Amino acid sequence: MAASERTPRHHRMLCRRFGGTWEASYDVVTFHDVDGDHEFFYLHGLLAMAPWSGVSCPTCAGQPVTVLPFRSQAPDPDATGRAGREATETA
Ligand SMILES: [Zn+2]
Repeated sequence: MAASERTPRHHRMLCRRFGGTWEASYDVVTFHDVDGDHEFFYLHGLLAMAPWSGVSCPTCAGQPVTVLPFRSQAPDPDATGRAGREATETA
């Protein structure tokens, strides 16, 4: 039995070589089969590597690149909790 879905996912990346950040929008296809859960990352419609597995910086082609916890586009400093969101993003 297999189920798949494609969901957009935005990641903010940090180049640890020069400290720059950028955002990458992936379409993530997840499916489940007898081997377990699988995720495929698509970037501009093309299969890409997972953002945490060997992505190079688009500016300087450097590594390592760190994937930062996703934050909403419009942060509201008054309404956001402190650390609760980071805790849920790692799951
Ligand atoms: Zn870089």
